[in-house]
Amino acid sequence: MAKNRVAQWIRPEIQRLSAYRVADAADLIKLDAMENPYTWSPELVEAWLERLRQVSVNRYPDPQARTLKLRLRQYLVLPEGMEMVLGNGSDELIQMVLLAVAGSGRSVVAPEPTFVMYRQIAALLGLQYQGVALREDFSLDLPAMLQAIGEREPAVVFIAYPNNPTGNLFSARDLQVIIEASPGLVIVDEAYSVFAGKTFMPRLEDYEHLLVMRTLSKIGLAGLRLGMLMGSPAWIKELEKVRLPYNINQLTQVSAEFALEQPGGLDEQARLICEARAQLQKALQQLPGIQVYPSDANFILFRTPTHRAEAIFTAIKERGVLIKNLSGQGGLLTDCLRVTVGTADENNAFLEALKAEQNS
Ligand code: PMP
Repeated sequence: MAKNRVAQWIRPEIQRLSAYRVADAADLIKLDAMENPYTWSPELVEAWLERLRQVSVNRYPDPQARTLKLRLRQYLVLPEGMEMVLGNGSDELIQMVLLAVAGSGRSVVAPEPTFVMYRQIAALLGLQYQGVALREDFSLDLPAMLQAIGEREPAVVFIAYPNNPTGNLFSARDLQVIIEASPGLVIVDEAYSVFAGKTFMPRLEDYEHLLVMRTLSKIGLAGLRLGMLMGSPAWIKELEKVRLPYNINQLTQVSAEFALEQPGGLDEQARLICEARAQLQKALQQLPGIQVYPSDANFILFRTPTHRAEAIFTAIKERGVLIKNLSGQGGLLTDCLRVTVGTADENNAFLEALKAEQNS
């Protein structure tokens, strides 16, 4: 009986979806989710806890997160006159944008493969989603993108810059052509931009329909859940109507403010991660049968010998290291695994596990 009611009332497009699944990482070295591997020093933790002591959890947080936004404006070097909306992670910002544009016949375009939440949330909201296949080398297929944009007239185009899960940075020139050809919004998702040293932030002044998205998740604060979407006031004003009043909780606001006050903290760790990425890339390239793709992010995509991805993923996990198996997604990701750049010890544990599998 209950089941029938579920089938009757839950929208069919939701019933067809699977919930976003996160692998259980208990007791494993966690190199699956592009987190920053560094924890804070005991002194920094003490100072942070001292700051948290001043929080009154009986009160709602500042609904506009004004102090936090001021700190973020400086940190992000937001051009004058631009506005910002905050989300409970950038996932929530993707949802806000798509909620704001959802409607019959509306569509979303993004290159494929890319971050899966663009498709997932579009499906939740009944938006049509068109993925445009990347080329074999993971560069944008510009004519195909322009054709999709011309035919669909999408409400939103998402471009992850650098892209997840491929790790590369698309040509800035191609992106510019896409922005100029798009009739709706273009969101440049810069979740990994600190590892690439490239940003479209200054271009916000050139294009009224461009929004740039960032997150603190990949630079050491994944546990806080804070994403930022920046652009011209006309768009941000509308997105503010979709945002739930207190979506950035008090602990997140205070903790993020604290972290942003630490001189150089977040960026210094990003620099260490880039160094470790170069070493990991080099070590992977030396392994027989492994094809390593270049990365401008804090993770590396690599291709295993045909039909071996699942077995290699499982063997690495049994040796205590969790990475991400993407081969199930098929297409360009067939036989592909993705590893997040961790500390030197974590990266070595991963390499040893992979080598042991190869020698077994
Ligand atoms: N954008 C991209 C390209 C991502 O890879 C991710 C996380 N994997 C996100 C956005 C979401 O990040 P968060 O919700 O943690 O801010």
